[in-house]
Amino acid sequence: MHFEAAVGHRVSDLSALWQTPSSRAAEPTVQAGLDTQAMGMAPVPGELVTPTLPEGDWPLGRALAQLQGVYILAENAKGLVIVDMHAAHERIVYERLKAQWAAHTPDGTNGDVKDDSASTLPYLRSQPLLIPATFAATPLEVATTEAHATALQVLGLDITPFSGKTLAVRAVPTHLIQGDAVELARSVLAELSQHEANTVIQRAHSELLGTMACHGAVRANRRLTLEEMNALLRQMETTERSDQCNHGRPTWRQISMRELDTLFMRGR
Ligand SMILES: [Zn+2]
Repeated sequence: MHFEAAVGHRVSDLSALWQTPSSRAAEPTVQAGLDTQAMGMAPVPGELVTPTLPEGDWPLGRALAQLQGVYILAENAKGLVIVDMHAAHERIVYERLKAQWAAHTPDGTNGDVKDDSASTLPYLRSQPLLIPATFAATPLEVATTEAHATALQVLGLDITPFSGKTLAVRAVPTHLIQGDAVELARSVLAELSQHEANTVIQRAHSELLGTMACHGAVRANRRLTLEEMNALLRQMETTERSDQCNHGRPTWRQISMRELDTLFMRGR
């Protein structure tokens, strides 16, 4: 594949892209209302700065369409931008969770829960669900909920027994409110169950935040509006390390007009 050879730009190259003349950029026809609320990506004051560049100068361009429920196609000054929407959103959510986490751990190295920190829990801002999400739980899940009560509180998750074999999720981190609460709860409980209750936050908070970000991010086949796609692109532009997903894969690729012209043997 020719595309494989054409390595895309990384967001770390964005400073170069910001200076790119926008001669190739078409007149934008889409009003990019930053409907971040709809995606559960509400900007938190102090965490993100929304750029105020004119539309033609956006490094990741303006959204054109969603492809097969997986990719966002966008047009920027250089040509075509292709974004893996789940990987990109997962990274954005992860960086936001990490930023909230860091605010509670001044040394920035671990998430050690001090005895006197009860008044500052949770570390991740939490939001109650309008309707608690209940699910039939395994005995291990019920036991983990009790044994890891403090960790769950730190993570902004309110999971309590509803009846003998049923658990109720009553609150989730604000950044994950759009995700599937039950899937989130089960995946976090599965991870917690593999650790000692009194050291899990210290030892495994990075993994836990990664798991939570994955389940809070938009999933493949979720239909996005152009406004939501544009909001995601703008957030990528302002999020550190958003050029790679949590597993080190690229979140976006640039295919230049020259590469497209080569594909179609134009100008030969
Ligand atoms: Zn994921």
